[in-house]
Amino acid sequence: MAQATPLYDTYNRIPVRFERGEGVWLIADNGDRYLDFGAGIAVNSLGYSHPHLVNALTDQAGRLWHLSNLYEIPGQTRLGERLVQATFADKVFFTNSGAEALECAIKTARRHFFVNGQPERFRIITMEGAFHGRTLATIAAGSQAKYLEGFGPKVEGFEQVPFGDLDAFKAAITHETAAILIEPLQGEGGVRTLTPEWLRALRDLCDESGILLVLDEVQSGVGRTGKLFAHEWAGITPDIMAIAKGIGGGFPMGACLATAEAADGMTAGSHGTTFGGNPLAMAVGNAVLDVVLADGFLEHIGDIARVMRQGLAAIKDRYPGLVAEIRGAGLMIGIKCVRSNTEMVQAFRNERLLSVPAGDNVVRLLPPLILSAEEAREGLSRMEAALDQLSTNSPAN
Ligand SMILES: *Cc1c(COP(=O)(O)O)cnc(C)c1O
Repeated sequence: MAQATPLYDTYNRIPVRFERGEGVWLIADNGDRYLDFGAGIAVNSLGYSHPHLVNALTDQAGRLWHLSNLYEIPGQTRLGERLVQATFADKVFFTNSGAEALECAIKTARRHFFVNGQPERFRIITMEGAFHGRTLATIAAGSQAKYLEGFGPKVEGFEQVPFGDLDAFKAAITHETAAILIEPLQGEGGVRTLTPEWLRALRDLCDESGILLVLDEVQSGVGRTGKLFAHEWAGITPDIMAIAKGIGGGFPMGACLATAEAADGMTAGSHGTTFGGNPLAMAVGNAVLDVVLADGFLEHIGDIARVMRQGLAAIKDRYPGLVAEIRGAGLMIGIKCVRSNTEMVQAFRNERLLSVPAGDNVVRLLPPLILSAEEAREGLSRMEAALDQLSTNSPAN
């Protein structure tokens, strides 16, 4: 029998209690040290207790926590300027979460056509396997039956096409279509990749059809793939982009970025937030960018990703009965399992290595971006130990 808990039963929580973190390590209340290749699901991008982040947060905490967006917030302007400087975007709206960043992206796209005399263009086409959050609009965008069930009528205006099917996108575009919304690299759907050519063709399709391209880089952004944003690998830019997770380094925050043209409908009073862009979040977001944009940091991610890739390729060759495929980009890595992914996550955890299950029977590795080569090798050897253990056991099912 499950123990009574005051909390909603929405999570089947693993009975481990972490007390503190240091770098890429989490320390449980019994003293066990776990190598964290989940990083709070790609959130703790600079690991735990990063001194620059701790300083930024505590320094701001001693001065000012919250300000209404009725007033100018210098840290917000600064972070906005830096994001604009580093990306395709001209305008930024700060939120508290990924789903809120997506809500803003969806509203921005719809409102753009509304103010440009095409209010009938409000539909958004998404892709199978997508995950965009858990609000009513974002579960409609994700179109996963398991997240929609029981929550009333699906929010109107979202269509979905099969994964990677450009012709299906083309066929789905009508005079009511405002935008295409995809993750350039699917996270929760199973670390499913798209080729640079495919992404360029999608960009072309949006241009030819006069619709907006909205990218969800909540998981793939802020250095995760070895570029600041994953779409840069394809040499394309979106019109609107949602980010969150890594930009906060563990502090809850997100942002919606857009070109001036795409954001032209977001006029005074059209959207708002109480907590979004508050001084604490902005102090941390700026500190994360200090580190991620510093010379050599993105190259470091590429170097460590190669260590991981080589090690995982060897592991795949050694355990063909357990590992079907290694996929992903940078430090957003998927292990497609032969047996069940949850069994592999459990086996990794037995070796004090944390990972995250994903769709398509995949185990996700999303280590902090500060991972060293030595720590990467430590993780690989723990994975080997776990797979050794699994291969001596018969399949659980
Ligand atoms: C996590 C995630 C979201 C939702 O972010 P929340 O902060 O949980 O609302 C949206 N899109 C993608 C791709 C994500 O990985």
